[in-house]
Amino acid sequence: MRILRLSLSVDSSNLYDDKQKIWDRLYQIINDSWKSANHIATGQYMNDNFIRHVYARKQIDPKNIEQVTEIENLIFSKDGFFETKRQATTERDIKEVFPNIPPSVTNPLNQIVYASYIKEKKDMLMGNRSLRSYKQNMPIPIRLNSMNFNKNFQFIWNLQRNETITFNIYFGKDRANYKSTIAKILNNEISTTASSIQLKDKKLYLLLGVKDPINKIKLDPNKAIGVDCGITIPAFCATNFNDDKLPIGNIESFANVRVQMQCRYKRIQKSVIMAKSQHGRKRKTKALETLREKERNFAQSYNHMISKKVVDFAIKNSASKIIMEKLSFDKNFASTLRNWSYFELQSMIKYKAKKFGIEFQQIPSAYTSTTCSKCGHNDKNNRIEQSMFQCVKCGYKENADYNAAKNIACFAK
Ligand SMILES: [Zn+2]
Repeated sequence: MRILRLSLSVDSSNLYDDKQKIWDRLYQIINDSWKSANHIATGQYMNDNFIRHVYARKQIDPKNIEQVTEIENLIFSKDGFFETKRQATTERDIKEVFPNIPPSVTNPLNQIVYASYIKEKKDMLMGNRSLRSYKQNMPIPIRLNSMNFNKNFQFIWNLQRNETITFNIYFGKDRANYKSTIAKILNNEISTTASSIQLKDKKLYLLLGVKDPINKIKLDPNKAIGVDCGITIPAFCATNFNDDKLPIGNIESFANVRVQMQCRYKRIQKSVIMAKSQHGRKRKTKALETLREKERNFAQSYNHMISKKVVDFAIKNSASKIIMEKLSFDKNFASTLRNWSYFELQSMIKYKAKKFGIEFQQIPSAYTSTTCSKCGHNDKNNRIEQSMFQCVKCGYKENADYNAAKNIACFAK
């Protein structure tokens, strides 16, 4: 899912007599909406306070899930105190307090604010955070079936029956090809998802959520690739059915950049301590932060590069699965690649593979480096040196990372 940020202007062909009236109406909805978001959050907070008093009076331990559920079901039932479900209590409330907001807004607004309240509730009741407050420029969610586009690439917002506003979309140079995305929505090639309207710096935006279709490519269910994150090569790919292989990256060059950065980091850190003036210290601390950020970015783009090549390798071989070992804290591995996030790499591969319908599988790391991928013989003497594998039984000799990747690939079921 991605979000398109479209700049809107009110079209002159609207039902209302003049543009100012439409703007007044938009301001009214948006103003009432962010206020009602706060109203919803507070309302749900009050619900919890109410429940707490009920527990206390009825001498119920809040940790007794069974009793708690029973009481809450009772309070939020048709015949209970609130006469409706918990989520609906606040929606009913804001409809009374802010009658000018159309239901196509109150409904998703209540849903979203309620969901984040529930998510943050535990931390809040523990005192770890305070009630979330909503600001004037918050995106106002709108119901999916209340929005449409027409052939002139205009956005049509059906606020409620007999109230529709037509907007022109400003595409500008359209570097991101938003116009073609809207054309695809009009042709039902892609679908829209959770969207909102935002008023920011006196400009109106449609934050349009779209679901890109999964790119269908031909994959063989029996074919898989294995990826070994080794000592000399960050990622080595092999398949479970042919001799194709792909070493990705080079630990030495990667480590060099990291070491360089860490040296610079230490130098600046030292100078921060030595800095005489407050101003100098501040400036150097900032430099430190920038460097830290650079280092993070470097590691991240490195992972982007590797994960893309891994997925490309799988596609090239029509593999339906990418297999990797579960994270293990091998001593060598940890020291060579200080701070490099194997976990991040895995999640990037998983996410990129999913786009093509390729499954990601994790296997426990065991014996992949000491097993012979040719004859299957497992022996700790199999490995003669760090980068070379040689089987004591059949004499097979190969790059150690490739042998491991091959074993991982053949794990596929
Ligand atoms: Zn062998």
